[in-house]
Amino acid sequence: MTAISPRCRALAEFLSARGEPAWRLQQVLHGVYKAYRPKWHSIEGLPKGLRWRLKDEFGKYTCSFSPEAFTEGDFAQKLLLKSFRDDAKVESVSLQFRTHRSLCISSQVGCAFQCAFCATGKVGFKRQLDGDEIADQVLQFLQRGQKVDGISLMGMGEPLGNPKVFDALRILSSPELFGFSTRRLNVSTVGVIPGIVKLTKEFPQVNLAFSLHSPFTE
Ligand code: SF4
Repeated sequence: MTAISPRCRALAEFLSARGEPAWRLQQVLHGVYKAYRPKWHSIEGLPKGLRWRLKDEFGKYTCSFSPEAFTEGDFAQKLLLKSFRDDAKVESVSLQFRTHRSLCISSQVGCAFQCAFCATGKVGFKRQLDGDEIADQVLQFLQRGQKVDGISLMGMGEPLGNPKVFDALRILSSPELFGFSTRRLNVSTVGVIPGIVKLTKEFPQVNLAFSLHSPFTE
């Protein structure tokens, strides 16, 4: 399980180097992914000294982003998030439907494709998000007390142009972490064939959507 996420790997190594018992990792992950604690300090049950060391090692917050702006409409909330790593910004949206709530999250900072109808394409490609950064957008809404029923990789970027999207799908569906059913995960693509083949092999139950604006190559 720790192999699927840079954060899990780093936590496992950090706790092991401190000589913490093996179950401590589960306790920390539960605090982040089940109790949605935004700060290491607010994870219950951890020794005080360990909370301070986690903060020293990983920063104050359990998430990769700080929220820069939160815009709220009747049925939608939009978050502008800034990376602690390099100040890169991405957007994530939460949509309330009659029977369920669905998130639209980003997979890249900017995008290399230049679809005529899309503002992100005009920005150009900046960098890939890693698996934790993609999944952390979900964490941001869960930390706000929202109940999330479905997740669509349909925000900034072409998901199948980023190999780390497969890490994100593992993080989101891992029972020890977010624990979403793969049937509730959706990937929207402009038609990246190698990515489609890999997705259908590795995640046959993840829903695939196509975003095509023309049947012709431009
Ligand atoms: S692939 Fe998606 S994010 Fe990229 S330019 Fe096209 S529509 Fe926009």
